[in-house]
Amino acid sequence: MIPFIDLAAQQARIRPALDAAIARVLAHGAYVMGPEVRALEEKLSAFCGAGRALSCANGTDALALPLMAWEIGPGDAVFCPSFTFAATPEVIPWTGATPVFVDILPDTFNLDPDHLDAAISAMEREGRLRPAAVIAVDLFGQPADYPRIAEVCRRHDLALIADSAQGFGGTLNGQHPIAWADVATTSFFPAKPLGGYGDGGAVLTRDDALWERMDSLRVHGKAVAGDPALNGHDPKYLNARIGMNSRLDTLQAAILIEKLAIFEDEIAARQKVAARYAEGLAEVCRSVPTVIEGGVSTWAQYVVEHRDRDGLAGHLKAKGIPTAVYYPVPMHRQAPYADFPHGPGGLPVSEAKAETVLALPMHPYLTPEIQDRIIAAIRAFNG
Ligand SMILES: *Cc1c(COP(=O)(O)O)cnc(C)c1O
Repeated sequence: MIPFIDLAAQQARIRPALDAAIARVLAHGAYVMGPEVRALEEKLSAFCGAGRALSCANGTDALALPLMAWEIGPGDAVFCPSFTFAATPEVIPWTGATPVFVDILPDTFNLDPDHLDAAISAMEREGRLRPAAVIAVDLFGQPADYPRIAEVCRRHDLALIADSAQGFGGTLNGQHPIAWADVATTSFFPAKPLGGYGDGGAVLTRDDALWERMDSLRVHGKAVAGDPALNGHDPKYLNARIGMNSRLDTLQAAILIEKLAIFEDEIAARQKVAARYAEGLAEVCRSVPTVIEGGVSTWAQYVVEHRDRDGLAGHLKAKGIPTAVYYPVPMHRQAPYADFPHGPGGLPVSEAKAETVLALPMHPYLTPEIQDRIIAAIRAFNG
């Protein structure tokens, strides 16, 4: 069986560095908020060239932290795509706010800025909810249209979060999403382009005061600089707000430092894999991915569209080639989310894509030989 994502190949490449990094943590014993946590945060900020990073327990908490820090809650509307992983909308009702689903563009599968604008205007006219924030998603690794989304957000006075769980490391016109968004988030779930060996996440912001509040929230609302006088008490036991426990383990930070060191190189390798797929598959699939002009995708997934998606998946499975469907049911069609509002005219593109998308094996260590087997199998299905 060909692996869908080959984490073993990556591990073999950096195993000695990982072993040494893990051994250093076992030697110093600071398993929670150890020195590697701060070091990773500094390296993540440097990698993005802007903003300040704060690590946390997973990519879902990374989305919740800014919403909590902005005190978004009941009566607020937060706009997001429906064609995404559940974590994107899930954090919105956590705060008491209401998700408002927006459709995607048919070529990039990312948030449609015009439909976003229309959805916000409709909410403003209706007056029931206060538009507060937008969560854009870098679906399958490719950057959303941040210049246009940020312009819509500025015009309506909304905060912008870039959910880069899949797209962290991707750029648009040479810049990371944090150049446009108020906050960019990522996930270190093992299968993400920058994944650890367990759960983890991070938030980036250019706003120092927001960073401080999120630092507080990730440790039970501990008092931080800017909070009322500490009077000499240990800030750990002075709670300035209601927070949570969302720390990144030191061991994960140590592992991620080693993975970040080869991340640029891996992103470059992913471009070659994507280009080979595009060349081999463009004429036999309904679509191969279109990346936004000026964009670099991290290719978290390589997703093609096919009129007989399920037939093709079965054909490939029989040949030992795994595939996956992201996402078979858009979030606004899932029972717990079905009653939340959506933009005017519904979400026809999200619904159509759910029927045709198929993700192929994708990782930086996919060899041309194996890739050619996958391409040949897909071409054979088309006869
Ligand atoms: C994976 C993912 C998340 C959540 O990350 P976790 O670390 O699994 O909590 C959020 N948004 C998107 C788009 C994702 O793909």
